[in-house]
Amino acid sequence: MYNIKYVSTRNNSIIKSCEEAIIQGISENGGLFVPTQIPKLDKSFNELIKLNYKEIALYVFKKFYTSFSNKELKNCVDKAYDNKFDTPIIAPTVKKSNLYFLELFHGPTLAFKDMALSILPHLIKTSCNKMNINEEIVILTATSGDTGKAALEGFSDVDNTKIIVFYPEKGVSKIQKQQMITQKGNNTYVIGIDGNFDDAQNSVKEIFTSKKYKKILYKHNYMFSSANSINIGRLIPQIVYYIYSYINLLKDKEIVENEMINVVVPTGNFGNILAAYYAKQMGLPINKLICASNENNVLYDFINTGVYDKRREFKTTISPSMDILISSNLERLLYTLSNNDPKTINTLMTSLKSSGHYKVNNNMKKKLQDNFYAGYATEKQTYETINTIFKNANYLIDPHTAVAYSVYKDYKKETNDTTKTIIASTASPYKFTKTVMKSLNKKYSKCNDFELINTMSKLSNTKIPNAILDIDKKSILHDTTCKKDEIKLTISKILKI
Ligand SMILES: *Cc1c(COP(=O)(O)O)cnc(C)c1O
Repeated sequence: MYNIKYVSTRNNSIIKSCEEAIIQGISENGGLFVPTQIPKLDKSFNELIKLNYKEIALYVFKKFYTSFSNKELKNCVDKAYDNKFDTPIIAPTVKKSNLYFLELFHGPTLAFKDMALSILPHLIKTSCNKMNINEEIVILTATSGDTGKAALEGFSDVDNTKIIVFYPEKGVSKIQKQQMITQKGNNTYVIGIDGNFDDAQNSVKEIFTSKKYKKILYKHNYMFSSANSINIGRLIPQIVYYIYSYINLLKDKEIVENEMINVVVPTGNFGNILAAYYAKQMGLPINKLICASNENNVLYDFINTGVYDKRREFKTTISPSMDILISSNLERLLYTLSNNDPKTINTLMTSLKSSGHYKVNNNMKKKLQDNFYAGYATEKQTYETINTIFKNANYLIDPHTAVAYSVYKDYKKETNDTTKTIIASTASPYKFTKTVMKSLNKKYSKCNDFELINTMSKLSNTKIPNAILDIDKKSILHDTTCKKDEIKLTISKILKI
């Protein structure tokens, strides 16, 4: 039986068990934890076809979280993927306009973040038990809109934890914001900042790796962990649905066993698409991974040129959860592309920090382009795509999914590739009612996001998800804001340290 450990991308001698990596979130030197090997699928797809979502999840977790017992993992899976999801299938794949939409928004907060954040609290609790940790765990989270709510929902009133979320006050949709500031739970804290996601993520990463702050926390019986996709406890659960979607296509006879597919992922912090890349390395027959960006198209440039350059204007777009210029999880991909060379990663990351850009060597660039295609959608293309697919297929998609679809159309035109393609559908259109309805008809730009919930339901003949029913009538429980350079101070105040 093999044993998988988690190693820092910036130092090969920092090696942890999975429970240590899950609790710690990020390595002490700022590197991210990556599995020491990617396990292979050792069952045929025709065998896997018999498994339901929970069973596939358990199968994948056993391979990556090798120090957890079967019983521990099964307990986590059972608690995560239950009737919090509005369908027993958990993540359906639906065929529209000759494409396959992998709907990842059937969880409690209507975005794909639920797929991992409904299990993360259980993985953290199990890890604490295994390591005999008695400190209270403080989950520190930066959000571009969806992680915040999903993490709050997951950790609300979980014993011996506190959850603190920082979101860009002016950078999320009205409904995303309302979801967060109405969050219940005695251990939840939600703070708007006057900066963007990158500011929040940078501060949070810095606080995490500060030895001095760690000591202060320890003295007060606290320990930090992360709910961001820098945590390996977020990443592995995201591999599951790509395998599950593939076997669903097989089950529906849309593909034959071992047929290649493409996967399109609307991308921000590079977590979701990295999970698809790991699925490919496990043996899922993926041809191209199509990385779709909005007008913050730093990844588009990187994949096409090998140069990562964040020195550009940060844009606030209609797909806010992808408004990111520093994609953290790219570091994990770079590590693999460099044949696990921490020296290369240190050089690149130091350059990014000090001068805002870096360039990978030709060898890495070639491997990057063999696996990935990148495109981006303008705001106009995003609106048009929502409109077109509704007209053609009577199917409403959210702006993030629309970015993915728009990029796929460009890919198809450019390559004539007819490989069957899955689009990761990352949020429900009900989270972005204003943008979506405006795409259908300009007259809706005068209405507010909340009244458009009903309008959307009627027009699309779909049921309003429970998660946002009467959301405008809920009491606002969090009204704290802070400046982006006051994040640490705010945390100290909350924890009274
Ligand atoms: C977080 C998010 C993304 C981006 O996912 P990453 O893993 O950060 O690349 C895309 N769409 C939606 C709706 C999201 O919430």
